[in-house]
Amino acid sequence: MDSDIVMVDDKGKRLDGRKADELRPMKIEAGVLPNADGSAYLEIGKNKVLAAVYGPRECHPRHLQNPTRAIVQCKYNMQSYSVGDRKRPGPDRRSQEISKIISEALEAVIQVELFPRASIDVYIEILQANAGTRCAGLTAASVALADAGIPMRDLIPSVAVGKANGHLLLDLNKEEDNYGEADLPLAIIPKTNEVVLLQMDGHMTREEFDTAMKMGVTACHEIYEMQKDALRRRYSVAAEEEQEVEE
Ligand code: UDP
Repeated sequence: MDSDIVMVDDKGKRLDGRKADELRPMKIEAGVLPNADGSAYLEIGKNKVLAAVYGPRECHPRHLQNPTRAIVQCKYNMQSYSVGDRKRPGPDRRSQEISKIISEALEAVIQVELFPRASIDVYIEILQANAGTRCAGLTAASVALADAGIPMRDLIPSVAVGKANGHLLLDLNKEEDNYGEADLPLAIIPKTNEVVLLQMDGHMTREEFDTAMKMGVTACHEIYEMQKDALRRRYSVAAEEEQEVEE
């Protein structure tokens, strides 16, 4: 993945004008799909992501039912039109992998033991992709779960840290992801800083890895505030609407 392309100038500025430890502009809105039990729409940079939650409901296929707890079934799907070169529609190895790691991360915070034999279904649609979609999808999914009123221990913020031109960079965009040297998506439970998702593509030294983790965890706490803010806005609107109906 090494490249001669200059992605960080001598002042430490990136191609899109950000500093090394700066997130792309982010926007989260909860409760955007009235027909789902819970939902969220998220933009980070040029990524546009929709998450919808159904359940807890009867688990299908039935052989996946667990008599002691609910299972979380996430389907991450990248739309054909979400990328420059049309993506072949339907599931592939990459989307199966992402669906699995997101399901596992969410199972770490949902109180699955309250819903034996049930399934909690999470659909993540990538409408526009510009690197970091698994993190954006997971961040949106945990807001959608909270919007559905599903009991959770915490939300999950997620972001990637990477390396390009030898610099550690927070929240890689597409160029940095394509031509950089490493990509490290991570997600945490903010109350405890427990890591619930961690992958690495490329190479970093041990010291770089430690610094990247610190950058990622700090940024996750920033994202956590935006997630909580989206839920607060959602419930203040819902309360206002309820009051109007009463009047
Ligand atoms: N991408 C693409 N076509 C694909 C898969 C990915 O164009 O079939 C692009 C897309 O912009 C994506 C980026 O490559 O966001 C990085 O993909 P990666 O597998 O690293 O996952 P992500 O960073 O989105 O979690």
